[in-house]
Amino acid sequence: MTKLVILEYPDPRLRKKAAAVTVVDDALRQFIDDLLATMYAANGVGLAATQVDVHKRVIVLDVSDTRDRPLVLINPEILSKEGEAPVEEGCLSLPGIYDKLSRATRIRVRALGPDGQSFEMDADGLLGVCIQHEMDHLEGKLFVDYLSELKRTLIRRRLEKERKQKSTSSDSRAHAPAL
Ligand code: ZN
Repeated sequence: MTKLVILEYPDPRLRKKAAAVTVVDDALRQFIDDLLATMYAANGVGLAATQVDVHKRVIVLDVSDTRDRPLVLINPEILSKEGEAPVEEGCLSLPGIYDKLSRATRIRVRALGPDGQSFEMDADGLLGVCIQHEMDHLEGKLFVDYLSELKRTLIRRRLEKERKQKSTSSDSRAHAPAL
């Protein structure tokens, strides 16, 4: 398995819209293994292909405490949404940045699994939020897009400053999980 490089905001490649997967084959499954390995190595609970500069509709997640329940969604579609509640989110492409935004509390999703078979599932709580967050990545959308222009500017400046200082933001685990 290969650990892939995660793009960081404001990299313009994070704005590309991902294309639907047409064939689920061994090459795609290899990529999915790499994507999962990259997510686990970064202590993330979710990662979208877009974040590693692969513009295909693939997301991986693991919201378990034991970090052994990988979930792979290929060509995910939200069939229905219910409720709305504010949640704090982070993102592996915005290290150390956390903010509150509103998400549906319950969703029904259809996707293909790594075996190429279509399935449907209901998701709420952290999993539901993660799926919505990762699906936004496939559209080239980031959670900071839900915030004000002023907040985005401050976040961009903070990340640039931190990159210059090459700080290894060690406090990120104290917040909500990064997606
Ligand atoms: Zn993210």
